[in-house]
Amino acid sequence: MRTNIMSPLAETAAGAIADEVLRACVHCGMCNATCPTYHLTGDELDGPRGRIYLIKQALEGEPVTSLTRDHLDRCLSCRACETTCPSGVQYHRLLDVGRDVVAHQTERPPAQRALRAAIRWLCIEPWRLERLMALGRPFKALLPSALRGKLPARTPMGALPRPVAHDRRMTLLTGCVQSATAPHFNAATRRVFDAAGVSLTETPGVGCCGALSAHLDAPEEARALARRNIDAWIKQLDAGAEAVIVNASGCAAFIRDYPDLLADDPYDVAKARRVLAALKDPVEVLAKDPPRAVRAPRNTRIAVHQSCTLRNGPGLAEAPERLLASLGYDPQPVAGSHLCCGSAGAYSLLQPKMAGELRALKVTALTAGDPEAIYTANIGCWMHLAEKSPVPVRHWIEAVDDVVS
Ligand code: SF4
Ligand code: SF4
Repeated sequence: MRTNIMSPLAETAAGAIADEVLRACVHCGMCNATCPTYHLTGDELDGPRGRIYLIKQALEGEPVTSLTRDHLDRCLSCRACETTCPSGVQYHRLLDVGRDVVAHQTERPPAQRALRAAIRWLCIEPWRLERLMALGRPFKALLPSALRGKLPARTPMGALPRPVAHDRRMTLLTGCVQSATAPHFNAATRRVFDAAGVSLTETPGVGCCGALSAHLDAPEEARALARRNIDAWIKQLDAGAEAVIVNASGCAAFIRDYPDLLADDPYDVAKARRVLAALKDPVEVLAKDPPRAVRAPRNTRIAVHQSCTLRNGPGLAEAPERLLASLGYDPQPVAGSHLCCGSAGAYSLLQPKMAGELRALKVTALTAGDPEAIYTANIGCWMHLAEKSPVPVRHWIEAVDDVVS
């Protein structure tokens, strides 16, 4: 597709990324077939081809309205469209540039701005969310149902292994929302790695990956968080850590985009690439060197939800399922794996209607095989699905923990 990106954007790294992506698109529309929002509304502008066209107009200096922003807001950033694009268009890279440009040209209503700022303020420092949840739990029964579902019960963490018991050492991102709402995921990950002969340590100074800030109109805040994390991880890698382990696939997906986020500074990009070379989802480590099962699974019949951020970027869609099957589980087939569950970071808070419709479809698909539990790879999917699932929803690492630790 021919493009004519306006100055001064055309001279920036973001402009170059947008130009490259737009030129690759031949406007065939095949991507619409796997787009969840197009599936729901049938509106061309709620599909990837329409959004690409809207972004192109915005980048070329055409007037932008709140309607343009609404269509981009409704995108889940799930990247399902990229899996069916014959031209290899990296839509999500263009979306990030487009959203920034559109956000600068249209002012959100005050209520939207306040909600976005509140989510960021609450989530990027885990203690704030933790404290709010601790205050809310005793009154859970009195809360409106929409809020009740966002207050998961605290699950005991269990015993932790000694911090440095093995020669092999990796560092774990404990996350912001995850460390406040589901610290038992991190405890299970540490036990599983311990059983596999690897000590998982935390990295001082590392916190939120920045995804929420980037998706909630605060790209500079996201850049600052990314730089802080990169510097802390590089110290760990220099000190002998083999890998950076991220067990929330949504955070990992955002970290993989650090080079684009920091594209204006080649020094930052080089440092980000070093971290990316060491970034691993736990399933990549465990699939290569699986820990030995020491007991049988308690729930054998399971369904595994393929989180978009594990499926559509790194191509690890079936890796957790394969690992669990090798440990004695019996994953049931799940239809429509390409459809996002509707969680998508803060999407379920900002676009509750569409997120609810997608979740209903996903829960129906996941429970069709009558599983005893549902497993996922991402904190956001866990919270979102657990609100309406008739069976327990857990992180897949917990299923591994059940049989190896
Ligand atoms: S993104 Fe890919 S599939 Fe979609 S219109 Fe462009 S070339 Fe076609
Ligand atoms: S990222 Fe997901 S929601 Fe957005 S256009 Fe692509 S398929 Fe549709």
